[in-house]
Amino acid sequence: MAEGAKSMDAIMALCKRRGFIYQASEIYGGINGFWDYGPLGAQLKKNLREAWWQDMIMNPCWGRKGPNGQRVRCVPVETRIVQHPKVWEASGHVGGFNDPMVDCKETKQRYRYDHVSVYVPSSGDAGDKPFFAFMKDSPSETKQLKKAEKAFGQVRTVPLTSMPVTDFAKVLAPDAEKVGSLTEPRQFNLMFKTYIGATASEDDKAYLRPETAQGIFVQFKNVVDTTRVKIPFGIGNTGTSFRNEVTPRNFTFRSREFDQAELEFFCHPSESVEWYKFWRDFRMEWWKSIGLAGENLILREHEKDELSHYSQGTSDVEYRFPFTAPGFGELEGIAHRGDYDLKQHQEHSKTKLQYFDATRGELAPNGQPKGEWYLPHCIEPAAGLDRGVLALICEGYTKDETRPSPEFLKLHPRLSPIKAAVFPLVAKDGMPEVAEKLHAELTEKFWRVGMIDFDEKQSIGKRYARMDEAGTPFCFTIDGQTLQDQTVTVRDRDTGKQDRIGIDKAGQFLVDRLGV
Ligand code: ATP
Repeated sequence: MAEGAKSMDAIMALCKRRGFIYQASEIYGGINGFWDYGPLGAQLKKNLREAWWQDMIMNPCWGRKGPNGQRVRCVPVETRIVQHPKVWEASGHVGGFNDPMVDCKETKQRYRYDHVSVYVPSSGDAGDKPFFAFMKDSPSETKQLKKAEKAFGQVRTVPLTSMPVTDFAKVLAPDAEKVGSLTEPRQFNLMFKTYIGATASEDDKAYLRPETAQGIFVQFKNVVDTTRVKIPFGIGNTGTSFRNEVTPRNFTFRSREFDQAELEFFCHPSESVEWYKFWRDFRMEWWKSIGLAGENLILREHEKDELSHYSQGTSDVEYRFPFTAPGFGELEGIAHRGDYDLKQHQEHSKTKLQYFDATRGELAPNGQPKGEWYLPHCIEPAAGLDRGVLALICEGYTKDETRPSPEFLKLHPRLSPIKAAVFPLVAKDGMPEVAEKLHAELTEKFWRVGMIDFDEKQSIGKRYARMDEAGTPFCFTIDGQTLQDQTVTVRDRDTGKQDRIGIDKAGQFLVDRLGV
């Protein structure tokens, strides 16, 4: 872990303590790769999904015009986790959705081939010493580095994927004692299998979706035929996806069950590169707008040799998580997918998925275009909601020993699960009644966007600290003066500063600051 990086242990402890994220099935010992959300986490994730839904579907790109000079138009769908198995054959997931793996024969651990790297001498050969393999971002990284530096002095890192398989005999696997325990890379399908119906024979085999995007392509024709959408337009889909990740790790970052928010934006092939650039830039701006600004967020354009054969461009929005620092981890991929998916589904389903565009084609004698049939190109911004939540928590997590509450979560007010808290300074002298009334009024006004908390237990300092850890931007306190002049104190989470405002102004105060 890089120096100065936030402690993942501290962040995970806060997530548990405040009810953001729990281990799934914890009372049974947990289940690897699955995480549940507690009350605050569930609301935070809902707020993130809502923000995506609002800014991508209801008012796409904040009302901005696209490269065609018109407002961006998008519609939603909600498609199922289980689809016809042929969907996954057409999409290439059954044949190709494989991450090659290497097994360690000694420790019985299995690693994703592209996640293993090896320390080798920075010059010359290793002689009779082994190459020291490690998993990126895991304790084996520092452990093996120490050994490698002892053996070779100066070392450099090479990905295992770039080593000839014949050299595996000289590799010391991450936690192994003896060299040469890694197997050759092998393919494993990441899709969860299930059976439809009671008989559970091989003919009934189906899959849990590994992405939400394919549901959009499969319903493309229905959306075109039953609504008035006209190209260019987008279809958004959010929901749960499953991947039987071989090494789930880094808290929720690599889970086996996770939620995605994906858009497929359909456009004419001649305009697709412009739209790709438009979406790539908007998606980066969007993540910044909800609080991931600064040097922890980057847009990484893929090199030409990283691109799929059909793609004219792909970029990733990446966040520097504490466990990837100084490197970055993917939050969202924005891909120019050409007509690959529609073409695949057209071939496999034998259903014409071409679009008739009445605004294009040669001009008829009457001066009107004759129209053009084509397979639209697609731009796909594909975001992960769980990784989004994790990035927001990691970014917001702040430690400041000079504060009475040294740990706090600087969440953007639009995302905060609790929008404000109301406290009677002491639980007597009529203060609880006034506080309860304000709590009820604010709840009535803001329940659509988040919670309003009420708390009269413990000292006021402890109550502030609790709200700081929950990421609550504002706390209103009813004190002796309130009873005399109808003012309350409002405390700001980030500065700890307190001001007095009229109790009747509390609602408007929040409206002005929440961005909701
Ligand atoms: P990775 O290379 O990290 O496995 P990917 O490139 O396979 O990710 P995509 O197929 O592009 O991911 O999926 C889109 C988004 O879905 C990712 O950017 C990520 O936010 C999310 N996602 C993918 N796999 C997982 C996972 N195992 N756990 C949590 N989120 C995931």
